[in-house]
Amino acid sequence: MLNCPRCHQSLNSKAVTCSHCGTVLKAYGHPGITLHRATSDQPLCETCSYQADDTCTFPQRPYAKECTLYDDITQPKVVANQRYTPRQNPLQSLKFWCQRNPAWLGLLGLLTASFLLTLLAASR
Ligand code: SF4
Ligand SMILES: [Zn+2]
Repeated sequence: MLNCPRCHQSLNSKAVTCSHCGTVLKAYGHPGITLHRATSDQPLCETCSYQADDTCTFPQRPYAKECTLYDDITQPKVVANQRYTPRQNPLQSLKFWCQRNPAWLGLLGLLTASFLLTLLAASR
């Protein structure tokens, strides 16, 4: 049985905050959340991006040896919601644009035809 580190009341093992005092439990090795542990004497904070950008408010900063929010600054970031746009050559892009926008393509064709007809009429 888990106990709250602040009020020492018993907790549901899936709780993220203490239902008695409201303490956020993520920092205490909650079973559902990865707890990062330092593998050497160096605190995790020294390589944490939240230390680097000064956004961490955890009391164990800057000497945390265990932390659930640790974000390794040396690891490449995967940006969420970034749209994958494969590189295409311009001809392929034009082809895809034509397939996606047949109405605009038709309008462009009509404009070109009327422009050419006007030129022809004017040259007579
Ligand atoms: S999130 Fe954890 S490891 Fe990162 S700076 Fe804060 S306390 Fe340190
Ligand atoms: Zn509590």
